[in-house]
Amino acid sequence: MLRMLRPLLIAVAALGLLLPAASEARMKSTKLPDGTCSTTGGGKVVDLPGFPGERIDRRLLTDIKWLQKRYPMFVTDGYSNDGVHSPNGEHPLGLALDIVPDKANGGTWGQITELALFAEPKQNQPRAPFRWVGYDGDAGHGRGNHLHLSWSHSTVTKPGRLARTVYTIKCPKPPAAQQEPEPNPGGTEAGQVKHPDSPSTGGIKAKLAPVVAESGGVGVGG
Ligand SMILES: [Zn+2]
Repeated sequence: MLRMLRPLLIAVAALGLLLPAASEARMKSTKLPDGTCSTTGGGKVVDLPGFPGERIDRRLLTDIKWLQKRYPMFVTDGYSNDGVHSPNGEHPLGLALDIVPDKANGGTWGQITELALFAEPKQNQPRAPFRWVGYDGDAGHGRGNHLHLSWSHSTVTKPGRLARTVYTIKCPKPPAAQQEPEPNPGGTEAGQVKHPDSPSTGGIKAKLAPVVAESGGVGVGG
């Protein structure tokens, strides 16, 4: 009996060694009934193309491109641990943007207002997948200051970790299709894929993190 079990045990042990690496690398996206997308795994903070110095969870890159096409914008902040942002908000997760008009290219506050209304047609009722939208009617935000967009995500239990599941307008490209440079200088802590301590949650039914309103951000002259 033992002789028969041994190969099986070895196989199970080998699988156990292989699984964490495989699941960390894997980005699994599922289109939701409302047309938005749920992506589990594959989180990584990367440079935001077009905005030197700004970084973001790579799972938002497709959404940001999509939004930029429709609403010309200038990003003043993305991934950030700056004290100006709420520590429980989405900036430290790389899942938030602070946005002002792209004035160098003729951008206007009217365009930013349109984007704000797209993301939050009614005050405090953001459209999926947005978690919190800071604009007119929110302290420290609004026309002439900045627009804040947060994307929905699963609960992150420990600081410095990225969200296991992220919700987006469009499904992100899997990492293999993006030729991101590696390693990522300065991104040692949050730049790696880390999971909340719940190995049992393999599905897409991630528990949403509570909404956190930002009190400040990076706007015009800020
Ligand atoms: Zn913000």
